[in-house]
Amino acid sequence: MELTHIAKTVMEKRYLRMKEDGTRETPDEMLRRVARVIAAVEEKYGASKKEIRAVEERFYQLMDRQDFMPNSPTFTGAGTALGQLSACFVLPVGDSLPEIYETMKQAALIHQTGGGTGFAFSRLRPAGDVVRSSQGVASGPVSFLRVYNASTEAIKQGGTRRGANMGILRVDHPDILQFIESKADITQITNFNISVAITDAFMEALEKGTEYELINPRNGEVTGKLSAKLVWDKLVENAWKTGEPGIVFIDRINRRNPNNHVEVIEATNPCGEQPLPPYGSCNLGSINLANFVKNPYTDRAEVDWERLGEVARTATRFLDNVIDANKYPLPQIAEKALRDRRIGLGIMGWAEMLVQMGLPYDSEEAVALGNRVMTFIKQKALEESMALAEVRGPYPEWEGSQWHKAGLKVRNATLTTVAPTGTISLFAARPDLPCSGGIEPKFALVFTRNQAGALMLDVDGQFASIARREGWYSDELMQQVADRGTARGVSGVPEKWQRIFATSHDITPEWHVRMQAAFQGGDGLPVDQQPVDAAVSKTINFPHHATVEDVGKSYALAWQLGLKGITVYRDGSRASQVLTTGDKT
Ligand code: UDP
Repeated sequence: MELTHIAKTVMEKRYLRMKEDGTRETPDEMLRRVARVIAAVEEKYGASKKEIRAVEERFYQLMDRQDFMPNSPTFTGAGTALGQLSACFVLPVGDSLPEIYETMKQAALIHQTGGGTGFAFSRLRPAGDVVRSSQGVASGPVSFLRVYNASTEAIKQGGTRRGANMGILRVDHPDILQFIESKADITQITNFNISVAITDAFMEALEKGTEYELINPRNGEVTGKLSAKLVWDKLVENAWKTGEPGIVFIDRINRRNPNNHVEVIEATNPCGEQPLPPYGSCNLGSINLANFVKNPYTDRAEVDWERLGEVARTATRFLDNVIDANKYPLPQIAEKALRDRRIGLGIMGWAEMLVQMGLPYDSEEAVALGNRVMTFIKQKALEESMALAEVRGPYPEWEGSQWHKAGLKVRNATLTTVAPTGTISLFAARPDLPCSGGIEPKFALVFTRNQAGALMLDVDGQFASIARREGWYSDELMQQVADRGTARGVSGVPEKWQRIFATSHDITPEWHVRMQAAFQGGDGLPVDQQPVDAAVSKTINFPHHATVEDVGKSYALAWQLGLKGITVYRDGSRASQVLTTGDKT
């Protein structure tokens, strides 16, 4: 493994474990530990010692070559007393005090293990509604959202990071307007992302310009009506102001869930890429696409399909094993995980693959390739899941699923997810070949990093090595790129590279949304052909001067192109940004 300085620091701080002799394990020993624990599962399915060793070596190679990384909790949890390996959980919130506080306790336990939690507050009766036992009035979903937030504040996740949450409310809940405004003050509810669950009925009312009904979840009674346009405009305006709330198209999510014969999804994990049913969980892992280009930076550049296929299959086996190696934080979660065997194989380093292929992110070719790569990975994951089902059996809930109906006997209810890979993309990055998170474009080529108050200049490894190789590198030029926040329009950078090195702010919101759609796949695809079974983590970046209407257009396009959800961020709309491009600091 060839790690960057940042990766080493992060690993040392949070990932490398103390060994029995009191010294800290090395990064290599960490990979060995993870490979050993995940391969050991094979014994359960009749593998010999020799076969287990061979699988262990394959798993180790996946990570050592930086071809694939499992989600953070698998690194921090494998072979430890806690032993919790999944990143994503969704818990139900019932409409009674004991249920509300029981779930809050459960979330605290999950946060301790490094997992993130999502909740729908949609079942809670609205503020001001009757409470029979106390003869009082209910305080409503938003007040409990605040209580959960305070609880999270008190607990550090996995010892070092704070818990991450997603709070969701259905658009037909009577408290929806209050919910939409709940994070207008950005100093509030900071441990939650919030999203509105948009129904088909709402979208129909929006298209027709009519009102839609608000329903009290306690008794199913219609309590009033709101103009769909009014609610939509408020949503968009708040997203423009602060980036929140995001939206998820909840009926679409359920329609396209391969496992929708046994469950109803009402929420997602914190970053939105994993819609899950109550007590659902998922372990994720991502392939570093930067490693799969033959003849990079030449006219003959092409995807190394053969090696990508092999890695996708081994990674699928790895993730299926994680389900058995996992120690679950609650019995309800263990039961559900073992009945559905959800996994989320995804990708990272997409931006770096594109540069090697010579394709700008904002091009038809790039969008087409994104769809092709993800569909291919899904196909390989499916092949492996079917092979596993032959030996280990299909997942227990398989009968009646969309897979079953399509004649596909699979081991896992869902196979693919595009996660943000916030930390593991650092582990996959090498000094001369970085790895951007998920399907995000490069944020900047030369940027200033605000590290403990000091501003440091950092040049993208791929950009720097091309510039050096071609002889146009100079500190002055890099400073110019930093000042502009992009290579486009900087005359010292060859025109070809100005175009290919597209950064998030060069790319219009429409291209961001189209790329997300290419990976997600639209409505109506057969279950084996939808590239992503779960969802895609993506931030649609807007320049500071973007208008409310611009944000509205992206939300509408998200619906048209079949996205399961959308999250936007307008530059400078929140006080503290970790990363800033040169001209903003
Ligand atoms: N997550 C979390 N806390 C964090 C970061 C991530 O709970 O600080 C969870 C959350 O469910 C998120 C998922 O992990 O959606 C995947 O995030 P990411 O891919 O960034 O995690 P990594 O494996 O890179 O740490």
